[in-house]
Parts: sequence; structure tokens; C-alpha cells
Amino acid sequence: MNIDLGAKSCQGDANPARSHVEATCQARAAQPLAEDNSLAEDRVARFLSMMWSEDVRDIEAGLAVHIIQELITGLYRRHWPLGLISPPVQLRAFGTWVLEGVPEGSSYCSAQWYVDQSYEPSVDKIVGSRFLRLVEAEPWQQSDPHYDLAVVGQDLIASEETLRAAPDSFVLGAALPGMAAVISVCRLRRILGIHEWELAMRRLLVHFWGHVIGLPGGRYAASDAPGHCPNLCVMRVAHDAGELMRLATEEEEAEITFCRECDERMKGIIIGYHFDLS
Ligand SMILES: [Zn+2]
Ligand SMILES: [Zn+2]
Repeated sequence: MNIDLGAKSCQGDANPARSHVEATCQARAAQPLAEDNSLAEDRVARFLSMMWSEDVRDIEAGLAVHIIQELITGLYRRHWPLGLISPPVQLRAFGTWVLEGVPEGSSYCSAQWYVDQSYEPSVDKIVGSRFLRLVEAEPWQQSDPHYDLAVVGQDLIASEETLRAAPDSFVLGAALPGMAAVISVCRLRRILGIHEWELAMRRLLVHFWGHVIGLPGGRYAASDAPGHCPNLCVMRVAHDAGELMRLATEEEEAEITFCRECDERMKGIIIGYHFDLS
């Protein structure tokens, strides 16, 4: 597995030297300089930042990173066999990052800060819309636009509205299409069987990757809102772990991940970013 910034080393580092800001600067610095003879090389590919909360287990974080890395590699091989040197979207797994040199509790000081800020004690859940608002407003999202995918261990509720109207409800993930998503592995921990659990994790991660890059189109806040694919496709909505398993099994048997429309749209979106045509 080829990850730009080792999630595990970041996570286990006693003196974490890699701040999010430093790493985004590295991402810019790592881009090749413009060359007259190469359109592919003179554009900055958008990168995907992955982070997770402290209560996400190593096995969950490891699988999540593996799934996304494999997805990106698969896309690259399928769509760009002829000469792009780097994948169109690069994964940067920041894990449970901590910003160096700022007091604990300061705004945007760590991955856990997003979780603490969006936690609602009355329902013991993270509010998806709160989390996503923080991501949208983060300083490095402004200075260096990128995709964000966060994994949390606590249960998730969609928004302030659902908090008031249906406090007992939950979602498996919430998205800001074209920019960010937060997913919860909480409900998946109850799935029995390693194959079933991996299948559910994959279905959840790939689905929300789709939302992060802007599939299938339109702007909506949570996974149970409109904006899903009507085809046999990973972009169909799943409201709970049971439904997620049912859809995942159906798609696995049909050997389908993204339907043709979503696959083409994904390719278009990524090429647009990579070549900065949009
Ligand atoms: Zn969805
Ligand atoms: Zn689709």
C-alpha cells in the first residue's frame, strides 16, 4: 500500500511533527513544476485528506485507508493507462493528527477537535452538519482546496433539524458533495462475520468517496436525502447497516460498484480537477 503520509506513523508518533498545514504545503511542493510538453504535469491534482477520531480502531482505520487507496489505484489503472505519472487524486492519510505548537483546545488543533466540537451530548451522537461546517470553514480548505473524508467511531445524526425532529435517528454518514464527508463505523461494529464486516465497510467508504467527489450530483447534507443513484450502483442510499449489507451483497453478486453513468461522471469530475478545466 502506497500512502503519502503514513497514518500509523502519524498516529503513533510521540512527537508528531507532521501538522496538517505542513503536510498540505508538502502536497503543493511535491507537485512537479510546469513543463511545456506536459499538460498532465503542470496542474495540481486535488488530494484526498483522510482523518479519523481517536476511538476508531486500528483495524478500522487500516481497512478504510486500504479501501480508498485500492479504489484510487483501480480508477487510475482503468481510466489512465497511458502516461499520467501520478494518480489523479492522491490520498493523504493524516489519521488522528495534532497540530504542533498550538494550545490544546484551540480551533482546528487536531482531528479530535472536529469530533468534540460537533458532539451532541443529549443524544450521544456527532451531528454531521456541524462536523461538515467545520471542514468547510477550515483554513487549509480555503488555502488549498482538497477532498476530505473523516471516519468517526461514535454514532452520527444528520443535522440540527433531525436533532430536533427525530433525536433517535441516525445516519451512517453525511456529506458535503464535492468536498467532504464524515462516516461512522459505529453501527458496522455490530455486524457478525469478517467478510460481512469488510463488505459493509467497503460499501460505506466507496459510497461516501462518491459523495466527496460530487456523485451523483446535486447538493444535499445527509445520506438519507435525495441525490442518490437509481441504478444498480454503490451510489444507492442505505439507511442502516442491514440495508447497507443487502445492497452490498447485491452489488457484489452482480460484480458492480459504480454504474456506468456514475463511473463516467466520476472520470469527468476527476479529469476536470486534474487538468483544471472546470
Ligand atoms: Zn449517500
Ligand atoms: Zn450510479
